[in-house]
Amino acid sequence: MPLEPAAISGAASLPVLVRVATASPVASFGLAALLFFLRSPGRRWLLSYSALAIGISAYLLLPLAPQERGSVAPRLALALSFALPALGYFLLASFSELRFSAGRVVLLSLPVMGFLLSLSPAGGSQPHLGTASGIILLALALEFLSGLWRQGRRRRPEAPLLFVGTGALVLAVLAEAGINSGVLLVPRLEIPLVGPAFLFFTLFLLVAVADEGERTLTRATTDLLTGLPNRTAFLERARREMERASRAGSSLAVAILDIDRFKSINDRFGHPEGDRVLVAVAKAMQTTVRGIDLVARWGGEEFVLLFVDVDQKGAIPAIERVRAAIAAIEPPRVPERITVSAGITLHFGQFESSTVEELIQRADVALYESKRKGRDRTTLAEIGPEIPESAADVRYR
Ligand code: GH3
Ligand code: MG
Ligand code: MG
Repeated sequence: MPLEPAAISGAASLPVLVRVATASPVASFGLAALLFFLRSPGRRWLLSYSALAIGISAYLLLPLAPQERGSVAPRLALALSFALPALGYFLLASFSELRFSAGRVVLLSLPVMGFLLSLSPAGGSQPHLGTASGIILLALALEFLSGLWRQGRRRRPEAPLLFVGTGALVLAVLAEAGINSGVLLVPRLEIPLVGPAFLFFTLFLLVAVADEGERTLTRATTDLLTGLPNRTAFLERARREMERASRAGSSLAVAILDIDRFKSINDRFGHPEGDRVLVAVAKAMQTTVRGIDLVARWGGEEFVLLFVDVDQKGAIPAIERVRAAIAAIEPPRVPERITVSAGITLHFGQFESSTVEELIQRADVALYESKRKGRDRTTLAEIGPEIPESAADVRYR
């Protein structure tokens, strides 16, 4: 449903200003999306967004072109009124990962036909094509929103944002078309609603993209089962804490814990029950350590701990408190005490240049010693820096 040429009374009239003022940011967003797409071609929806935005800015500016008989501008506007809903649908469907089923492909072929017809020599003069484009827009919008509604209730946290943004955009386009064609009995509107509505839609899309980025980061640094930071997150934070400890002249401790005979818990009570034990152990650890300390899942039934600002006197009681908290958990269907073995090592930042991997390695050797001696105990790594008694004692490793 093309916008009829706005009655433009002068170069600086309000409708002209609104068209130019909205077409410019819309086109800029389109170009920005194209640049982002070139940087990460896997995100195909960026290309659809770019084409849609550039198409909308052309659609906004076309009525400003000379409208005399035989001009191509009205025919192009008609063609765009088919192409833009299809692009919008394609963008939203790929952004929300809707499946392109056979029914959806057939639905998408309708605007393609309308697009080709409007560009054909006789197309521009077909009065029904405008109505057809409006019906197609409505059909695509309803199909997408119903798909999103069904999906949103299951798993897409960004669905409400897309729902509001798309709904507003479609309503604005339909209202504008209805007013311009006289279907809605209100005075003809010269100010285009499509431009501001598309900017509003972009706002919601940007929030959805930011949410998605945050979720990706969380997924990359969090263990899905226990919700604890994962190995990557631990190593990164430990490196920072070690640098800080070196500067501040403080010490820290790294410990590794391994649940005793965990395979047998899985074998006797089932894997799901094993998972529940892992979650309970993680929770016990997390609630026992201080806020500045760090607990992470190293992998399988192994966890790592970083105690900040502790020396040997503080580190052993700290890890024993954690082990006691684990021993106190009572998983409903596992009628036995859960024990862990631990290895712990200290790091005196000023006096040694070990890496976090070396600390883990030292703690792991100590853990192996705990297992060898009968489990359910902590071993302090023997290899480690001697605490210097005086400056003359300082030996760098
Ligand atoms: P040890 O006292 O020597 O540590 O004995 P263990 O049985 O704990 O050690 P082992 O390495 O033989 O077994 C570890 C088991 O942990 C095997 C594996 O199936 C289980 N496991 C690892 N990750 C998960 C998980 O995410 N969920 C469950 N339920 N089990 C897991
Ligand atoms: Mg293990
Ligand atoms: Mg184990």
